[in-house]
Amino acid sequence: MTVGRFLLFLLFAASLGLAAIARGWVDVPPRFNPWAPLDLRDTPNLLTPFKLHRAQQEPALCQAALATSDLRFAVVADSLPEPDCPIENSVRIRGGEVAFSASFLATCRLAAAYALFEHHGLQPAAQAVYGQPVARIEHFGSFACRNIGSGSRRSQHASANALDIAGFRLEDGTRITVARDWSGSEREQRFLREVRKAACRFFNTTLGPDYNAAHHDHFHLDMGRARICR
Ligand SMILES: [Zn+2]
Repeated sequence: MTVGRFLLFLLFAASLGLAAIARGWVDVPPRFNPWAPLDLRDTPNLLTPFKLHRAQQEPALCQAALATSDLRFAVVADSLPEPDCPIENSVRIRGGEVAFSASFLATCRLAAAYALFEHHGLQPAAQAVYGQPVARIEHFGSFACRNIGSGSRRSQHASANALDIAGFRLEDGTRITVARDWSGSEREQRFLREVRKAACRFFNTTLGPDYNAAHHDHFHLDMGRARICR
């Protein structure tokens, strides 16, 4: 068999396998079934980005995914709060295992990415560094109908597709802020870098103090097209 024919055979076998999964002929755990709804408690795998993408196209699917997390949220009707800044497939997040300094508007996809980040990235980092979970997040908000800096490109904040996180409060009351602790004690530095690393796994764009002076006091996390981790 030539290489070309072999690849063709592989492709054929793979599509047969996918068809069999889609029709329910073979039993595949939901985590490994591309068509099964996303369960945000499952350990993320190669299919997670695909499922997140699919969920953003279908509000019902996305809300079903959010319902698997411990987030308390309310579905927000599509609207045009300000000219040029439509809100679509979005929710208002009120809290969950972690409380927020204020409730915030988020595209369903951003909310799902946040839930993955909290469960699989942020809390494990807090446990590893401090031996306790994060109880509260301080943030600067999500929705703002504006461009990036003074430029002409629309910010992900203009569609509630970005969240700016400024700090964390642990269960015992210890407060860690990006502004003070990014260059703080060794432990705080380690925690904030772990948090950034985790954010880069779940959000498309993660920007912090290493990116530029405008981000000296927060992590900007968004689900836009650009993949940046700085
Ligand atoms: Zn931001």
